[in-house]
Formats: sequence, structure tokens, C-alpha cells
Amino acid sequence: MGHFRKQMVSVLLTTRCNMDCVYCITSSNFMNGGDINITFAKQGIKDYFDKAWYPYLRFVALGEPTQNFETLQKLHAYARKCSSGRVKFELQTNGVFNKKIAQWIANNIDEVWISFDGLPEVHDELKRMENNKPTASIILGNLKILQEKTFAGFRATITSLNVRRQKEIVQFAHQQGIKAVFTKVVLPPSNPTLHHTFYKVAQSLQVGMMEYANDFVNAWKLSRELDVFYGNGYINNFDEMCEYACRACLPCPHLTPDGYVSACDRATHGKTPLQEFIYGKYNSVKGVIVYDKEKIAALQSRSVYNMPDCSDCSIKYYCAGGCLGTSSQLAGSMFKITPDYCEAIKYMFENIDWDPRGGLFPYFMT
Ligand code: SF4
Ligand code: SF4
Ligand code: SF4
Repeated sequence: MGHFRKQMVSVLLTTRCNMDCVYCITSSNFMNGGDINITFAKQGIKDYFDKAWYPYLRFVALGEPTQNFETLQKLHAYARKCSSGRVKFELQTNGVFNKKIAQWIANNIDEVWISFDGLPEVHDELKRMENNKPTASIILGNLKILQEKTFAGFRATITSLNVRRQKEIVQFAHQQGIKAVFTKVVLPPSNPTLHHTFYKVAQSLQVGMMEYANDFVNAWKLSRELDVFYGNGYINNFDEMCEYACRACLPCPHLTPDGYVSACDRATHGKTPLQEFIYGKYNSVKGVIVYDKEKIAALQSRSVYNMPDCSDCSIKYYCAGGCLGTSSQLAGSMFKITPDYCEAIKYMFENIDWDPRGGLFPYFMT
């Protein structure tokens, strides 16, 4: 289904993280801040549920959401109450928590997406704890607990270490009983900070989009045989004609730890360089969220009809201009395109065997 159909309120619970990943896109361990104001979060959830087609709450973070687990549980109870039990819950997590938390998540969250870089040895190279402890075995242990009661999928970042091992990623996921894996090519930090570890290794980690796309197509073929859905944010509109690339165009709210409302996962705090996505701010004195109508109108105007570089593209209704966050980050505006991404997107459209008339993708990217 067109990715814009995945609509929800996302709560970024904290800036804190228990890991120290080399490429951390949010720069969580360099950010001051802390935990979200729970009164703001409740207000943002209520504002969204009052207007939404259906109540859907997604727990995320600038760091790791389970680091603010008490607030997560309180907001879970609040959302249940104010939706009369109809709410659906999703969690995007690094998967590093204790067994008690794993059991609570298994019992109370409908859909869990774990950041896992596809293969244990690749994951442990780049995603360790602050004390340098590896994390793959902890995550795979928690995965078993989650799978007893709920859905869990992988979100993998693709670097030079795994770009040519995408078939192995699908194979490993299959062995673990995982039914869906979404990947993304590594990006520079969206919250740039001077001493970020990424900059020291950027050249050795980065991969070209066509290099990624070539191996993706091979892995896709295997994924069809193994019945593992192998997707990404570049193909996620291929199964339905649409004019909007993402929920960010509606927009759907992402409540940041410092009290702002963002349209996009890539804009994670009020002072983000990606200001075009910040469309609301909490007024703690009045206890209300003030929404910026001009910013909302600009976001709503981001359809494929309003993207000059897409006008002659042969697949424009199956891409809809692509990810706004990536355009904003790499090209400087959500209305611009990134040509190397376009080349890869078109290649994937031509070379994967999904017939858009034959059915919708079984999973939404988180
Ligand atoms: S788990 Fe996520 S937020 Fe934490 S350091 Fe790694 S990439 Fe950053
Ligand atoms: S990063 Fe891209 S896919 Fe994710 S919310 Fe932003 S625009 Fe949508
Ligand atoms: S030009 Fe690029 S961004 Fe625009 S629709 Fe085509 S592939 Fe997508």
C-alpha cells in the first residue's frame, strides 16, 4: 500500500540511548536533552486521536525508547483509555533491554521493529553498547521472547560491510523466523555534531545507491522463495499508484523530546537543520500545542504534482517523489530529488517481480 497510508502519532520518548552505534543518524549520545514531557505527549496523542481514521501510537526515540520505559507504559495506558481500547501500538527499538521488559513488550505491543544489521558479526562491528559490549546475542535472545506473543521485524542499515551480503541477510532472517526486513543505506547524521564517530569512518562505510540496488534485486528474488518480505523505503510505493510519498505529507505528528511536533522521523528535535518538518510547539503555560498552519500547508503541497524534477519520470506515481527526509537532508529541500537515488529506484522498479496489479505489499515500513 502507498506508504502514506501508514498513519499514526509517533512519540520520541527520550534522547538517551544505551548503545553507541558508529553511524548513529540521530547523534543521540551527543545530544543534550532528556525525556519527553508526559503532559505534552498526552496532549499530542489526544489531538491526533481526535482527528485520526484509526488510533495508532508508535513509540520511537531520538535515542532508545525503552530507556524511558515508565513513560512508555504510562502513555500506553493513556492511549488505551482515550481510544476505548481500540489503539494499535508499534515500537521501534534497538532490542537491548532486560527480559522483564521483553516480556511486557511481547504482551502489550502489536508490532515491534528491531534495528539489527542483518548478520550478527556485521551488527557487532558497528552497533555496540557504550562500554563496547556487543549486542547481537542480547537482541536475538530478546527476539525469541517477543516472537512468542507478537510480531517482530528487522530494520537493517546497509553499509560496505553488508551491501553485498543482502541474500545472506534474507537467509539469516528466515532462520530466525523473521517475516519482514526493511533496509536503508547508511546516511550521514541528520543532527550533525562535530565529534561524531561516523565522520572518521564515513568513506569506508558508505555505499553507492546502484551497488545497493543491484544486490537488493538478488536478495529480493531469494526473499520471494523464502516468504520473507525484503523491503525498503525506496520501493515502498511500488504496489499502489499514489501522489504522496509518505505520512509526512499529511502530516502525521512525531512528538519530540524537547516539545515540538515534527512531520518526519529524520527531524527529531526543535532545532533540527531540517526545519521544514517542524510544524508545532508545546506551550506548557497554556497546556496546548500550537500548530503552524503555513508549515502544514507546505507539507501538504508536497505531492508528485509539485515536484518539478519528477514531472517526466516514468514511475512518478509509484514513487511519488521519494522520501522527503532524504531529499531534505541530501538535497536541501523536500521538493528536490537526489539523482543517484532516482537511478536506483528506477532500476529496482524494473527488476523486481512484484506486479502492482497483483496485490499489495504485506508489510508497511516502520
Ligand atoms: S541504537 Fe539508535 S539511537 Fe542508539 S546509538 Fe544506535 S543508532 Fe543511535
Ligand atoms: S524519513 Fe522519509 S519515510 Fe521516514 S517519515 Fe520522513 S519522509 Fe517519511
Ligand atoms: S524523479 Fe526520482 S524522486 Fe521523482 S518520481 Fe522519479 S524516481 Fe521518484
